[in-house]
Amino acid sequence: MKLKKTRKERKCYECKTLINKGDLYGQRSIALGEKVNGESQTIEGMYTVVHYMRIPVDMCKCCLEKNK
Ligand SMILES: [Zn+2]
Repeated sequence: MKLKKTRKERKCYECKTLINKGDLYGQRSIALGEKVNGESQTIEGMYTVVHYMRIPVDMCKCCLEKNK
């Protein structure tokens, strides 16, 4: 994971910590709708396929290292 220096204030997606100007941060793409997928059911014999939409989120150095 490559860390970048932010030129503006960001918020860590994971721990909601503020990433200050000049601090290192990284980006990770997360899947939207993961929770929905976890609750997916078989309705009337048909398996419902949930399509993920992936979006990039900002994360602090700590969270990136934790999630390696
Ligand atoms: Zn964090």
